[in-house]
Amino acid sequence: MSSQDIVTRTDRHLMATYARAPVAFVRGDGARLWDADGKEYLDLFACLAVANLGHAPRAVAEAITAQTAKLFHVSNLHYCEPQMRLAEVLCERSFADRVFLCNSGAEANEAAIKLARRWGHANGGQRFEIVTALGSFHGRTLATLTATGQEKVRVGFQPLPGGFRYVPYDDLGALDRALTDTTAALLLEPVLGEGGVVVPSPEYLTGARALCDERGILLVLDEIQVGMGRTGTLFAYEQAGIVPDVMTLAKALASGIPIGACLARADVAAAFDAGSHGSTFGGNAVAAAAAVKTLEIMTAPDFLPDVRRRAARFRAGLDRIAARSPAVRGVRGVGFIQGMLLSEPGAPIVTRCLERGVLLNCTADTVLRFLPPLVITEREIDQALAIVEEVLSS
Ligand SMILES: *Cc1c(COP(=O)(O)O)cnc(C)c1O
Repeated sequence: MSSQDIVTRTDRHLMATYARAPVAFVRGDGARLWDADGKEYLDLFACLAVANLGHAPRAVAEAITAQTAKLFHVSNLHYCEPQMRLAEVLCERSFADRVFLCNSGAEANEAAIKLARRWGHANGGQRFEIVTALGSFHGRTLATLTATGQEKVRVGFQPLPGGFRYVPYDDLGALDRALTDTTAALLLEPVLGEGGVVVPSPEYLTGARALCDERGILLVLDEIQVGMGRTGTLFAYEQAGIVPDVMTLAKALASGIPIGACLARADVAAAFDAGSHGSTFGGNAVAAAAAVKTLEIMTAPDFLPDVRRRAARFRAGLDRIAARSPAVRGVRGVGFIQGMLLSEPGAPIVTRCLERGVLLNCTADTVLRFLPPLVITEREIDQALAIVEEVLSS
């Protein structure tokens, strides 16, 4: 079946919730993808920071196959070993003592919001408000689109749940004024992803941590896009020199199998008891087995140092393009999440790169967002960036 057939028949019956480029992929390997017409692409997008280990990573595929041969799913009224292993490794490799498993990023943030409210009710009673940043993105459920600091995701969905307040990102003064004795939690992305790859000043997260400590407020970090090695450390907070109280993960956690996780310190997690939250598929055995293998690969001693080395080469390449291209105003990012600021809308550049066989994305109108698989090779980096530069200069 051709790409065009798949596009036409899909658009006939799926709800039109996405603005898609007319290409259908059938196969992937590392940082390469092939469409239904046999055309090859270099991937600088990784299915939006999901395919951090590249496409169809063999070891994860084998872990999934081994699990599906035994058992697909176990209800949360019983126990299963993959769930146990995933919770163990997440707590071993992070600040957390406890994990709630679910199926997506929005659900992970929904769990964090519910946990913060329960914690607020249990600790003094009057804390319920969640403070979030303008320009943030936290998901598409009613609570998480309300948490999201962007008006466009809310259009037509009113009435929205109450108890959310917004502050400008990277502004400690505004944060200081917004946190009150009714605030339960501050929910922040360590780097704004959808908001245009905005890296806060080094003192922002340490300052936010200090304000939360002073006022007895939970700091919740949304690492759904920037966690799982994306910034060069397993979690972005490690580079900020702070520890959150709660953290959410999803996207790359199981290398492309749907999963989400809300991690917390023991005393915060204690606000949930039996019956206070749940999910039928949360901690599904196949998804958990894929996540365990993903974490095993990412925490091998050489993996992240090598990611940092190749990410530095990638960034140097972007900086060189910026210096030579009048249309580029700057480059910002950490590790393998990088944004190239243009002086014009980026959508036509994305379309021309796609035609030339390079996948990338544009966010906040004028920011080309680069999220390559963390396993992209030096040669693939050089090839892909050469094409991006040709498109920018044509
Ligand atoms: C993608 C994303 C989400 C939502 O995840 P879904 O799996 O699409 O629900 C939430 N927060 C951030 C920072 C994200 O990038």
